[in-house]
Amino acid sequence: MRIDLHSHSRVSDGTSSPTEVVRRAAALDIDVLALTDHDTPAGWSEAADAAEAVGVCLVRGMEISTKHQGRGVHLLAYLLDPTYPPLAAELGQIMAGRDSRLAAILSNLAAEGVYVSQDEVRRQAGEHQVIGRPHVADAMVARKIVGSRQEAFGTWLDPDRPGFVVRYAPATTDMIGLVNAAGGAAVIAHPWGRSSRRILQRDSLLSLRSAGLTGIEVDHQDHSAEDRSELRGLARDVGLVATGSSDYHGDGKVDHELGCNLTTPEELRRLLDSAAANAVASGRPVPALVGEVPWGDAS
Ligand code: AMP
Ligand code: ZN
Ligand code: FE
Ligand code: FE
Repeated sequence: MRIDLHSHSRVSDGTSSPTEVVRRAAALDIDVLALTDHDTPAGWSEAADAAEAVGVCLVRGMEISTKHQGRGVHLLAYLLDPTYPPLAAELGQIMAGRDSRLAAILSNLAAEGVYVSQDEVRRQAGEHQVIGRPHVADAMVARKIVGSRQEAFGTWLDPDRPGFVVRYAPATTDMIGLVNAAGGAAVIAHPWGRSSRRILQRDSLLSLRSAGLTGIEVDHQDHSAEDRSELRGLARDVGLVATGSSDYHGDGKVDHELGCNLTTPEELRRLLDSAAANAVASGRPVPALVGEVPWGDAS
């Protein structure tokens, strides 16, 4: 069975529609797919319709921006009720923070003699509600200021570059609590990706586990083979579920094709059990899976 629990559509900063992401998953023989756009459930209903049509089991999720010890930590949240008021309020704040940051990024760039307007960025984002650095990068590519998203990040938008601006993000521990109270399960995305390797060591994982964390994403393109084996050992040690996923962004991120990393059926079962327990404890109306996990052919 092929299980991929981390993907993005045009609703955030992917380049394909939710329908196209689901269809591509089906074409690549993925049995279980989670759509996890940044900070929003806006793609869920379209993805659910597509999943039903093509027979992919869909897990509704999102990737929420949080902060732990001053560093950005992305939290994958699965099967949660996005209307739970305290959670919805935080997601609203994160969105508002993205908007105010955009103006600050553009003025930093202008100070360096690089001129991109909010309109140009919003045009790149199209109907997307989640404006992010990737859309600023796309606007710079459209203007031929840089050749690719990667170059835009490396030269202008990464944390140590002139265009970078911090934006609002709730504390990781607080967000884990909100996800659980909304009936879902929380998994840290790429824990040893770009900026968080130094902080997310055993002690942090233990304290996040105590805060209610369900798992960590072990198999991810940002992790080397050594990272993966170390993280797998840590997950086992600390009692966290270990997932593996693509973090697909369509053409927006190279080398992240759907299914390039997978989650095992055993780990998926543990994740779903955790979400089910949180759903019962919370009493929230959580989204069901679309379709069923084909446990029978767990090969
Ligand atoms: P934002 O949410 O606006 O902070 O942007 C985060 C998004 O930018 C994520 O989807 C990342 O995958 C993407 N991103 C971050 N750093 C880079 C990079 N160096 N190259 C390409 N994409 C990046
Ligand atoms: Zn993204
Ligand atoms: Fe991420
Ligand atoms: Fe992601």
